[in-house]
Amino acid sequence: MNDNRIRDIVIVGGGTAGWMTGAALAKTLGPGYTIRLVESEEIGIVGVGEATVPHLSFFNKLLEIDEAEFVRQTQGTFKLGIQFRDWGRIGDSYIHGFGTMIGVDFGMLPFHQYWIKAFKAGKAEEIGAYTLNTAAAPLGKFMTSAIDAPPNTPLANIAHAYHFDAGLYAQYLRRYAEARGVRRAEGKIQQAMLKADNGFVEAVMLESGERIAGDLFIDCSGFRGLLIEQALHTGYEDWTHWLPCDRAMAVPCEKVGPPTPYTRSTARSAGWQWRIPLQHRTGNGYVYSSKYLSDDEAAATLLKNLDGRALADPRPLRFTTGVRKKFWNKNVVAIGLASGFMEPLESTSIYMIQSGIARLGLLFPDRDFSPALIDRYNAQATWESERIRDFLILHYHATERNDSPFWDYCRTMQIPDTLRGYIDLFRDSGRFFRNGDEMFGLVSWVEVMLGQRIMPQAYHPAVDQLPEADLYKYIDHVRNVISGCVDLMPPHQAFIDRHCAAEKI
Ligand SMILES: Cc1cc2nc3c(=O)[nH]c(=O)nc-3n(C[C@H](O)[C@H](O)[C@H](O)COP(=O)(O)OP(=O)(O)OC[C@H]3O[C@@H](n4cnc5c(N)ncnc54)[C@H](O)[C@@H]3O)c2cc1C
Repeated sequence: MNDNRIRDIVIVGGGTAGWMTGAALAKTLGPGYTIRLVESEEIGIVGVGEATVPHLSFFNKLLEIDEAEFVRQTQGTFKLGIQFRDWGRIGDSYIHGFGTMIGVDFGMLPFHQYWIKAFKAGKAEEIGAYTLNTAAAPLGKFMTSAIDAPPNTPLANIAHAYHFDAGLYAQYLRRYAEARGVRRAEGKIQQAMLKADNGFVEAVMLESGERIAGDLFIDCSGFRGLLIEQALHTGYEDWTHWLPCDRAMAVPCEKVGPPTPYTRSTARSAGWQWRIPLQHRTGNGYVYSSKYLSDDEAAATLLKNLDGRALADPRPLRFTTGVRKKFWNKNVVAIGLASGFMEPLESTSIYMIQSGIARLGLLFPDRDFSPALIDRYNAQATWESERIRDFLILHYHATERNDSPFWDYCRTMQIPDTLRGYIDLFRDSGRFFRNGDEMFGLVSWVEVMLGQRIMPQAYHPAVDQLPEADLYKYIDHVRNVISGCVDLMPPHQAFIDRHCAAEKI
């Protein structure tokens, strides 16, 4: 038995990051560890972060969380993708849908290669008509594959994510984690004590005088980065020049009408507005650049563009887009906002919490904190962040909008070479290659590039081997299968009412 094992784990922070980490470690590490979580009710949590990506259902499966119960307890709804309005041009609308395939692939080529030829010939509809998620979402249809799905149809393989109330989600995970042995300490941390010999964190000291020591510290303290930055001075890489939004104004409003099975992102003059439908309310926010818009203007625009009556005053949030220079430094691993933040355009933050937890699980150290494990963790986390960063920049840069200084900046800014390579390859002839295990794959990149008006100049030469009459028949067949499946899906609200309606509050 290795007696150099980590025994005491301290999680600093009880927001989504802290409780996701606590819940996952409690479930997966087994006996022999103490896990303590410190949080301060007085400081509170950031309280936004209500739209997710499908990966969360894997997290729930790992934790053996019952989906219907989870949705009910968090006032949740389902999400097939994100609708982008006014991004390429004012008046445009497209859906970035979840899933593993656009249309139905044929031979060695992806469907969109055939679609390019048919579309240019005027024989195909917009790309969204050929995939279940993108066709069902605007019609307000939803079902999960697990329930009611006829086999051997696209209905048997629906990728979905969730919208939920961030406060209720943290509470839900807290109940889960505490039931599995995570011990919570309430109070404000005043100071982190470092070991004299190696600068590792030894303990945190609360205002009450309580001292909590540990072997491994997980910093989930939010933007302030209490351990990773304030104690260890790790440094931050600022990406504001590529992702210029640095503020958000958030406000919930009354729900009017049935919830849409998608998040909406509407581009505005200096950023974009989110709309997240929940069972009991709708979450809204304007993400903007303070260089181009004042807080008062942002609040006024947000309030003018709500579905229903505002349920609170708009709440301002400030952030700097970027990442810590190290996600793991000495015996501190930063997870969540403490590790960095890339704005919520593609709902990637909660996913990054999840992938940070998974990475930590795979590279879990002993008390000697092998640099090989730490280096690997940091390299992977940096890589993942840079690939997500590029995908987000794509939305801003690939636009024809020239109606405000903000969009002029985004359209003409220098972009990373990696992203330039992806765009050039796709514009040439619709090719795309996923790079290693980057988060977003072909479906996402192709849907967003097309949605942002990057139309390939040509298509793969092998497409011409299919006689034109067969090509058009294939394209029509895929569309008919998809629309037939969408017809079979219930309205989103009806699905919720039947399987996971929350208590009215
Ligand atoms: C405008 C905006 C919109 C977003 N939208 C999305 C979205 O749609 N989808 C998505 O995936 N993500 C989104 N995010 C990100 C998401 O909100 C966060 O990733 C998520 O909430 C995790 O936050 P956190 O737990 O890291 O930090 P926080 O929620 O800030 O929690 C920090 C914790 O640390 C504690 N703490 C801090 N200092 C101390 C101290 N001195 N002593 C004791 N405790 C302390 C606090 O009490 C709190 O419990 C959004 C973020 C912003 C800013």
